[in-house]
Amino acid sequence: MDLKEMKKKVFEANLELVKRNLVIYTWGNVSVIDRENKLVVIKPRGIAYELLTPEDMSVTDLEGNLVEGKLLPSVDLDIHLALYQRFSGIGAVAHTHSTYAAAWAQARRDIPAYGTTHGDHFYGNIPCTRDLQSCDVEGNYEKNTGNMIVDTFTERGIDPMQVFGVLAAGHGPFTWGTDAQAAVENSVILEELAKMAYLTEMIAVQPKSLEQFVLDKHFHRKHGADSYFYQSK
Ligand SMILES: [Zn+2]
Repeated sequence: MDLKEMKKKVFEANLELVKRNLVIYTWGNVSVIDRENKLVVIKPRGIAYELLTPEDMSVTDLEGNLVEGKLLPSVDLDIHLALYQRFSGIGAVAHTHSTYAAAWAQARRDIPAYGTTHGDHFYGNIPCTRDLQSCDVEGNYEKNTGNMIVDTFTERGIDPMQVFGVLAAGHGPFTWGTDAQAAVENSVILEELAKMAYLTEMIAVQPKSLEQFVLDKHFHRKHGADSYFYQSK
């Protein structure tokens, strides 16, 4: 994809977060990576969405140096870069402070897989990271947040290509996908799952996670080599 096309996709994906009521003001950001040319395109920091144009998107190298554009990249760039570096299969990252997902992050709780809607999209609980230490926050806060996310997946043996999102403790959700549209879609779905899980806990006397065999069925009929959910693969 050429750079102009990448900027347009990132611009549209960022606006989609607003349209889906996942972000207000300047909260949230989406980026995409071009692994071949080693470039990342991300929303610039601190500019109101209604003032943004596709040309305003910031272009950086994989170390976070601005290579094109006048506007500074999102402050969360280093989180995105840490995810790109360690999750080699992903092509885009989205971040929001959507209400229900942020509430689970603030409660420091994984979002349990209570039902098949969850199983269709995320293969197991959506993990919440540990809290950062004060030295992590005083140091390179964003890079350490990204590393904390990656470590959570490594330590818990979670495949980022089967669980496409995470809750950063006390903060909010990050999601990813093969492209910008998929990353944003996963933010929309994660928020809906967070809401359903919250309501389940409000209603259920003893909330019960989906049985593993149902989770297996729902995830694998939609994802991977043996999927049959769509008209064609
Ligand atoms: Zn944030």
